[in-house]
Amino acid sequence: MQPHEDLSPPGGARRWSVAVVGAGTTGLALARELRRAGRFAVTVYEARAAAGGNCRTVTVGGLRIDPAVQVLRSPRDRAALDLVAQLGVRLAPVDASTSWVEERGRSWHAAVARPSARDVARMLPMLSGAMRLRAALDAIPPEDDEPLGAALARRGADGAATQSLFYPLCHAFWPFQRDELLDLPAGLVAHHAREHGLLRPWAGAWHRFEDGVADFTSRLIQGLDVRTGVAVRSVRRGPTGVELRTEAGTFGHDLVVLATAPRDALAILTDPSAEEKSALTELVDEPTRIVVHHDASAMPADRRDWATFNHRVHRDGSWSTTVWHNRLRGVGGPDVFATLHPGHRFDAVETLDFRHLRWTPRTRSAQAALLGLQGRRRTWWCGAWLGLGFQEDAVRSAVATASALGVNVRLRAAA
Ligand SMILES: Cc1cc2nc3c(=O)[nH]c(=O)nc-3n(C[C@H](O)[C@H](O)[C@H](O)COP(=O)(O)OP(=O)(O)OC[C@H]3O[C@@H](n4cnc5c(N)ncnc54)[C@H](O)[C@@H]3O)c2cc1C
Repeated sequence: MQPHEDLSPPGGARRWSVAVVGAGTTGLALARELRRAGRFAVTVYEARAAAGGNCRTVTVGGLRIDPAVQVLRSPRDRAALDLVAQLGVRLAPVDASTSWVEERGRSWHAAVARPSARDVARMLPMLSGAMRLRAALDAIPPEDDEPLGAALARRGADGAATQSLFYPLCHAFWPFQRDELLDLPAGLVAHHAREHGLLRPWAGAWHRFEDGVADFTSRLIQGLDVRTGVAVRSVRRGPTGVELRTEAGTFGHDLVVLATAPRDALAILTDPSAEEKSALTELVDEPTRIVVHHDASAMPADRRDWATFNHRVHRDGSWSTTVWHNRLRGVGGPDVFATLHPGHRFDAVETLDFRHLRWTPRTRSAQAALLGLQGRRRTWWCGAWLGLGFQEDAVRSAVATASALGVNVRLRAAA
């Protein structure tokens, strides 16, 4: 396929000059495939001081942790796992134990990790509700566009289980506005729940990066021309090429791949078309804060009920998830926790701000609209946000773009 509708093939030994904006998993995986193909001269521009995007590893009291966890799940994440294997990155199994705490008047509602007889009695209604909810979700086909609330009600799902179990569980993986979940396309949410085993934690296997997700990035980056600390300020697309303005100078390329978050992409285009603007505006991303701390009050009251992933429903109805990194990594020493969407202030050792695609009822149509613009005006779109928003989606998006640019990709998602 032609890399661009208006582009004639380069003469002689000239290679396509490609600018990739954003050195997250997507941008790096794409750059690696293009470089391997030999027909492209690829430059990756990254605003942050380090490559990796959301892939960040920090050291706390001698323990190397990935605050955003970044676990992969087999068999779903086959492209990401294939890439990891090609790079020789070491993975380790994840103890996916989970606890559940509800603060509304009770100290805790259920601890799946170590329930007592009394807790089992408390949990039984929730578990039977969860099973009915799971059966309802399983019956929804991926292409079902009706609102989730209507689809679940029609299939007899339990409203209480949806509110107290499915909402927080979904939210730990996937930001959405509380009042919008039931309006999201049912097929999308059901597909997500199945893909990530949300109500089937025993199915599939979770893997973490043994040496931290930064190890994945540092191997991915090898041999690539990645300019870190170089924010792209503007992208001007013309009839003969693309011009990128940065603080380090102005650079010309044949093509540009926007592998940033959608909002960042829109901010740097000098002349977005009406279609680009409308699709990128609909693709909203949500700020996601993670606080790393040593405060055990984020955990169930009884230490014997501590699990790797600890969900908590706060009195005001908000949710948080605390990861106990010692258990995740199977090591002792001072307890290190990372709380996602913290409900109150902790004495933070580190505070990390991320952004994650927020699902709205219009996300799927905006993704489809943008994918329909691939290659127009010398511009390609790439990112986890064009799929479900996970590492697997980042790699699949890179594979799809590289394939569309005529590269014979060796990763399994290409099949
Ligand atoms: C809290 C959290 C937990 C997660 N946990 C998991 C998990 O357990 N498993 C999983 O599979 N996925 C997880 N994810 C999702 C995963 O992190 C993402 O799917 C993946 O990292 C996205 O990669 P990306 O390359 O598409 O985007 P990003 O990582 O966001 O990379 C985009 C890059 O573009 C750069 N950029 C932006 N603007 C410019 C500019 N103007 N010039 C130059 N560079 C620019 C940014 O600095 C950034 O580095 C999690 C995400 C979050 C937020």
